[in-house]
Amino acid sequence: MKLLMPRLDISLSQIRDNARILSDLYGKQGISLMGVSKAVLGSPLVAEAMIQGGVKFIADSRLENIQTMKAAGISAQFVLLRTSLSQAESIVESVDISLNTEIETIKRLSYYAQVHHKHHRIILMVEMGDLREGILPSDMSQFIRNILQLSNITLVGIGCNLACYGGIKPDDHNMHQLSELANTIEQEFHLTLAIISGGNSANYEWCQSTQDTGRINNLRLGESILLGRESVGRTAIPGLHTKAFQMVAEVIESKRKPSFPIGQVCQDAFGNVPKFQDQGIFQRVIIALGRQDVLVSGLTSVKDLEILGASSDHIILNGENHGLQTGDEVTFNLDYGGLLSAMTSPFVKKHFVFRDSCVAV
Ligand SMILES: *Cc1c(COP(=O)(O)O)cnc(C)c1O
Repeated sequence: MKLLMPRLDISLSQIRDNARILSDLYGKQGISLMGVSKAVLGSPLVAEAMIQGGVKFIADSRLENIQTMKAAGISAQFVLLRTSLSQAESIVESVDISLNTEIETIKRLSYYAQVHHKHHRIILMVEMGDLREGILPSDMSQFIRNILQLSNITLVGIGCNLACYGGIKPDDHNMHQLSELANTIEQEFHLTLAIISGGNSANYEWCQSTQDTGRINNLRLGESILLGRESVGRTAIPGLHTKAFQMVAEVIESKRKPSFPIGQVCQDAFGNVPKFQDQGIFQRVIIALGRQDVLVSGLTSVKDLEILGASSDHIILNGENHGLQTGDEVTFNLDYGGLLSAMTSPFVKKHFVFRDSCVAV
């Protein structure tokens, strides 16, 4: 069978291995994992691999992805990372736990939970300095007082998200603050917070180096499970697979041409005026993959082919000494942005590999 291109080869066994190693590693510190599936558009096969690897929850930012996984028969505790007022009814129907920061949204969740005779569980996100979502610690007490009056809503935990917008590192200071806040809330309201979710793939270094994880007993991991890296410095986590996803594209032209364009220079397809260095004549290889398919800066050629540039549908490579011909395959590793964009492109075939058997979608 000739496989289609461009395609993303996805190794489910490597994802399962990563989930297992991370579950064991964090498990020793009393930390449970939510496997975050948003970068793979809620792929049920990837979610299943994460569950086989031992994650306790599947978390996604998109309700649609959770609905896809449930429809495919994936059985897990589903967590919605991003809520909105307008989706409140569907959230109550499809999701077990949601992360929240706005009282109006929680009121709406409570309303629909009553309508549907359900109990909806929530985790409140605390603003710890990264300035994306979160309730300010000083507002927390009043906020919780308001929620506790709502019926069919149960507060099961608090959490925070760092290193996303503001690039703020999880450290002993902010993690300790979150733990302290959990203690304060429990004392003030005489309740137990079962989940203290300290962050994402950026928490690896802190977890490895700290003397005391405090009350932190949960992390929400996407990148480390999928790409085997932590996300503070993007270093590979020992023992994990970093190439579970590989992009494969087809050579559609391979010719010796000058490196310096001929004629008057104007704007390129994206409004930039390109600058070139004359490096003489060399082998230029064009592949059938472009900005419509993938964030080109997120690609790294497995065979060290230099990416010279890209337009919507073409990537141009320096193919000198690689002997590539029309029809040949070129393979790339991906970073998080590359993965997210490739998964989102309808043109990129998703090719799941599980040991010997394959499923193409
Ligand atoms: C995306 C997301 C995560 C996962 O982040 P990774 O860096 O991929 O581990 C965790 N929490 C929230 C709220 C998110 O939106």
